[in-house]
Amino acid sequence: MFSYLLATLPGDAGAMASGLAEAASSHGHYPAWVTYTQDIAYLVAALLFAYGIKRLGSPRTARSGNGIAAIGMLIAIVVTLYTQEVMSFTWIIAAMVIGSAIGATFSIRVQMTGMPQMVGLFNGFGGIASILVVTSEYMRLAKADLLTTITPDQGLTMGLGILIGGVTFIGSLIAAGKLQGILPGRPMMWPMQLPLNVLGVALCLAGCVTLAINPALWWVVVGLWVISFILGITLLVPIGGADMPVGICLLNSYSGLAAAMTGFILPEPNKALMVSGALVGASGLILTYIMCKAMNRSLANVLFAGVGTDDSTGTAGRDAGGDKTVRSVDPEEMAMILEDSAKVVIVPGYGMAVAQAQYAVRDMFNKLEGKEIEVLFGIHPVAGRMPGHMNVLLAEVDIPYDKLLDLDQINAELETADLALVLGANDVVNPAARHDKGSPIYGMPIIDVDKARTCVVCKRSLAAGYAGVQNELFFMDNTLMLFGDAKKMITEVTAAIES
Ligand code: NDP
Repeated sequence: MFSYLLATLPGDAGAMASGLAEAASSHGHYPAWVTYTQDIAYLVAALLFAYGIKRLGSPRTARSGNGIAAIGMLIAIVVTLYTQEVMSFTWIIAAMVIGSAIGATFSIRVQMTGMPQMVGLFNGFGGIASILVVTSEYMRLAKADLLTTITPDQGLTMGLGILIGGVTFIGSLIAAGKLQGILPGRPMMWPMQLPLNVLGVALCLAGCVTLAINPALWWVVVGLWVISFILGITLLVPIGGADMPVGICLLNSYSGLAAAMTGFILPEPNKALMVSGALVGASGLILTYIMCKAMNRSLANVLFAGVGTDDSTGTAGRDAGGDKTVRSVDPEEMAMILEDSAKVVIVPGYGMAVAQAQYAVRDMFNKLEGKEIEVLFGIHPVAGRMPGHMNVLLAEVDIPYDKLLDLDQINAELETADLALVLGANDVVNPAARHDKGSPIYGMPIIDVDKARTCVVCKRSLAAGYAGVQNELFFMDNTLMLFGDAKKMITEVTAAIES
């Protein structure tokens, strides 16, 4: 039943379910019509995946792209289950209803701010599903006394499937826990961390090679389970501060690789799994590269350096303001500053998502445009808690796409902006990233809001952001604070403009 439910989950877990079903089915040679039907269905599914991913490239087409890729996955799963006589149509439909109900409940109940954690968990499902497919195939062969028929390349792939799947599963749980605040966001370090991690990876690789040479050694499979789970903890726990986006993208890529591995080890290699796994693996790697570039970090630096602050309570950079005081404005004064501006740049961040302030922002945007004030949005690649978080929120309220400018574009505009309004953003506008070598965000390109004539920061307090560092922006001469919940403040500012 577990695999039936997985079948209707999105992404890797869904693909994996078709693999689970295939592993569970009776093997042997299928009539020609089955092979043809499967090949055609898998080809259609692969084309839908590729086309769906292409549409994910723009916020305008992303929603339909997601739907198209999901239809591809549904075709692959249903065809696998039906043609291989794993289950009848009645059961397939029952599984779809139950899976859809679970998916719908998740998507309705989860807050927009909880979305990154949910995506992280789905990655984890992909990882655990890979291990289950590999292990069930291994146990099937063990039961039939056929372990010695495992070829070296199959043995190696089985080992790698467990290693990558295990790291993905536990690593995703850790990442989701950090994003949810159940685990501390700061990096946790311990003595001999790097050598121990290297030893763990080396042991796992040795286990994979051993399986290739002597697949009958079942205890190697057990060892790989255990060490890969431990590695999932020890590799993810040290990633902290602002570097978690890279960790999450990498886990996403791993889940794809694990899926592709399992596609190879099934007795009838599953082309849908290989294609979908390779697509997820490759796109995850591209995203990892983009995130590394956005944070100005090398992958090795994120994985092994334990970057971040040791103090999530924000004592790092506590003297960011020295003996300077902050100056604040109220919504009425803010409305006057806005009305005196010809060019305004809004920089949204995680706080806008928490406050669900995007509708209020849209109303204010319309009002300012009506007064012929130019309004642009500066979108930092790691603003919020998942890639594209701000684009999704602003697209939801129909802010025109040509108003959303990326980091380089908006920085070119800021020097001539009258006002930069920072809305619930913190780390992505922290000038310490430019000069403070001791800061966990040092080197990360930021949006240069301090270059605007006036900068107003809307947030509830002077508290630090995700990286746990204080922000010297709040204490700068041209900065004013608008203290309060983003939605409430922007609604009041818009009302003040109206009146
Ligand atoms: P930050 O997390 O740096 O700061 C968000 C700020 O929002 C907080 O300082 C908080 O201040 C404020 N805030 C919270 N609730 C509200 C509210 N209701 N109204 C107004 N303000 C509010 O956000 P950024 O977007 O600037 O940076 C994202 C950070 O998250 C980066 O460090 C990034 O690396 C990390 N990250 C990003 C991921 C991604 O893929 N995008 C994934 C994982 C981590 P206060 O409490 O005072 O209101």
